[in-house]
Amino acid sequence: MKKKHVLIMGGGMIGLSAAFSLLKRGLDVTILEKSICGGQATGAAAGMLAPFSEISEDPDPFFTFCLESLRRFPEWQKEVKRESGMDFEYTESGSLHAVYHESDLLGLESRIGWQKRFGSEAEIVEGDRLQQLEPLLSDEVIAAIYSPDEAHVYAPECAQALEEACRKMGAVIEDRLESVTIRSWLNEPVLEAADGRRFSGDHLVVASGAWSGQLEDTFGLRIPVFPIRGQICAYDREGADVRHIISSSQGYLVPKANGTLVNGASEDISGFDTGVTEKGIARLVNWNYRMLPFLKERQPFHTWAGLRPATQDGFPLLGRLADAPHVIFATGHYRNGILLSPATGEAVADLIDGAGLEDHFRNAFFPERFS
Ligand SMILES: Cc1cc2nc3c(=O)[nH]c(=O)nc-3n(C[C@H](O)[C@H](O)[C@H](O)COP(=O)(O)OP(=O)(O)OC[C@H]3O[C@@H](n4cnc5c(N)ncnc54)[C@H](O)[C@@H]3O)c2cc1C
Repeated sequence: MKKKHVLIMGGGMIGLSAAFSLLKRGLDVTILEKSICGGQATGAAAGMLAPFSEISEDPDPFFTFCLESLRRFPEWQKEVKRESGMDFEYTESGSLHAVYHESDLLGLESRIGWQKRFGSEAEIVEGDRLQQLEPLLSDEVIAAIYSPDEAHVYAPECAQALEEACRKMGAVIEDRLESVTIRSWLNEPVLEAADGRRFSGDHLVVASGAWSGQLEDTFGLRIPVFPIRGQICAYDREGADVRHIISSSQGYLVPKANGTLVNGASEDISGFDTGVTEKGIARLVNWNYRMLPFLKERQPFHTWAGLRPATQDGFPLLGRLADAPHVIFATGHYRNGILLSPATGEAVADLIDGAGLEDHFRNAFFPERFS
């Protein structure tokens, strides 16, 4: 029987992880990337795998999807490393979510209460225990939630490894295409690159991140996916022993194995501009030393920004189109696309295999829900 051929539009973490899952199941895959794989939001990400720190409100389908992906990560990252032969600093560091005021303690308790129902090993730590866990933490911090099961990767290298794994497993990766236009999709999908080359397949996966909203006219659907810029910076942390992902309501700090400390991130609207602004970085610099006082004496050596694919209701668009089930949307992962890669990849492969998503994901993530 002829193998199914899947076209994937977009070579960020989501397109690449979909490709990886499909290749494992023996399908033919072509990734069409207008620029370079991992060159947009994916390459800008801090790489946290931290649903407990990121999602403070009551659990919803987005949280449970994030949690499912976190549980898949240890095995998934081993597979990617094995197939690619590359490393990307998967680090099971655990995390500390810090507060400064007595009045915030109640919030921590309710947060930990519902998270424990989802298998979190988290605990509230204070005083000596907190100092032992993170010796350089400011003594202004009065308590933190310690979540031992959160981790991080070096996102740009994770995307490179995933790309390499996909190539080795037989994917065709067409990058630097400048533009890719969908010429038809109702029946056989046909996509055309700027140089006039046409690509056809049995299935189309739309994984074009923050640019997905530009496909509204093509599909005749409302696709409220829009870019939210994240400005972020990195410090050299030589001589400073930082052990965990540290976050507060103001932002986060992630100690990378390569000796840097990543500090993010703004959430501002700038269209498709990926420049950094003085104000955006100053907001990070003016806050982070209240978490780690040694930062007051240092300046970031690198600043950058990326465009998160945000959606109107905060949930991704993940599923088949009703009238064209060979078209799968996998976009709008906002702040958690790195974390969500393993679960999204498998979901896309299940959808192409003809299986559905679990009910609570299917309804919440249905790509046509805004139309
Ligand atoms: C500063 C910052 C920090 C972040 N930190 C984290 C974190 O710690 N943990 C986490 O899980 N997530 C984090 N994120 C979010 C994460 O980066 C995104 O959710 C994720 O990268 C989205 O992946 P994607 O593949 O959908 O999008 P992208 O990586 O943007 O990839 C989309 C790709 O599609 C291509 N494309 C667009 N249109 C077309 C077209 N017409 N044809 C062909 N190709 C096209 C683009 O060139 C791009 O390469 C962060 C994001 C930012 C900006």
